[in-house]
Amino acid sequence: MTSGSQRRRLTSPEDLVEAGLAGPERLPELEAVANHYAIGLTPALAALVRPEDPADPIARQFVPDARELIRDPAERDDPIGDDAMSPVNGLVHRYPDRVLIKLVAVCAVYCRFCFRRERVGPGSGTLSADDFAAAVDYVRAHEGIWEVILTGGDPLTLSPRRIAEATQALAAIDHVKVLRWHTRLPVAAPERVTKAVARALMAEGKTTVVAVHANHARELTESARSACRRLAAEGAMLVSQSVLLKGVNDDPETLIDLMRAFVEARVKPYYLHHGDLAPGTTHWRVSIPRGQELMRLLRARLSGLATPTYVLDIPGGHGKAPIGPQWIHCGEDGEHVVTDPQGIRHGYADRLGADSAHIADSTAVETVN
Ligand code: SF4
Repeated sequence: MTSGSQRRRLTSPEDLVEAGLAGPERLPELEAVANHYAIGLTPALAALVRPEDPADPIARQFVPDARELIRDPAERDDPIGDDAMSPVNGLVHRYPDRVLIKLVAVCAVYCRFCFRRERVGPGSGTLSADDFAAAVDYVRAHEGIWEVILTGGDPLTLSPRRIAEATQALAAIDHVKVLRWHTRLPVAAPERVTKAVARALMAEGKTTVVAVHANHARELTESARSACRRLAAEGAMLVSQSVLLKGVNDDPETLIDLMRAFVEARVKPYYLHHGDLAPGTTHWRVSIPRGQELMRLLRARLSGLATPTYVLDIPGGHGKAPIGPQWIHCGEDGEHVVTDPQGIRHGYADRLGADSAHIADSTAVETVN
């Protein structure tokens, strides 16, 4: 059988071999990895794999690799420090104005580079009703919380009824203005992003944002774009999230195609994540200088509309920091040097330099989520 004719979700080493996504000689390797980490590949994404290409960027994201069992000393089970910032089960409060709620620990696909790979997988389940109620109580009690991010796992794998229950419970809190859902479902199983799912995400008077995860332009098929259109038609704002992955998208042409595909699908490029220090993911990471160089090349070729922010989640739970290239070098005398998108440097005299420095000194350094 070839991947193109696959009709069911692939969840085991045998499934991957049977579908032609790995040779039978790789079964022991796949099984060794499967003993630690879940396997999941949907028909929609399996159909995109070109089995004749040993470096296929779609297959690479979902077919296990023996290198996943090699752990660098810097890698950790909880790479972005969720646990340290979790006042109640399933909720992470890292920034004053927003929280994460991890509604479910299952996904339609299991990405080999997942930053929560130690926590997600079949059988890992859904946040219990009591835990969800406690999370809602926490949000209600903290008036500074303006945005709630629903994540997991993939929260769009829940039924429309469960999604609507979560939406309405949070939307009933006056100070919550924005509900942001992080999902891979529009590319992994676009047929499951129905009008009913899109409607379940909406709440009167609140802004719904859907952050769509994709890493290669080929993932944004016509079906995936239709799923995005259904979300937009119901009123969702769409933003992207991608991970910079060695061998998948670590070259300028692939990243440019991906960012343009997002915009064509009505998705504003938002984040390009530097790979987190999840166990067994060294082979996925690209050096930060290379990531910055790629961002420089993107900025030279793409409009701001199509350019994401390159971010690093600081290990230990300290939040995200933009780590893209520096475009300006400030001199103490107000004489600055600005680099244009083509890499040419220009002088800029900032007559307000001293005032600006004063503002910078008195402002806390902020991170983003
Ligand atoms: S969909 Fe997201 S949470 Fe699920 S395995 Fe992929 S990266 Fe991890």
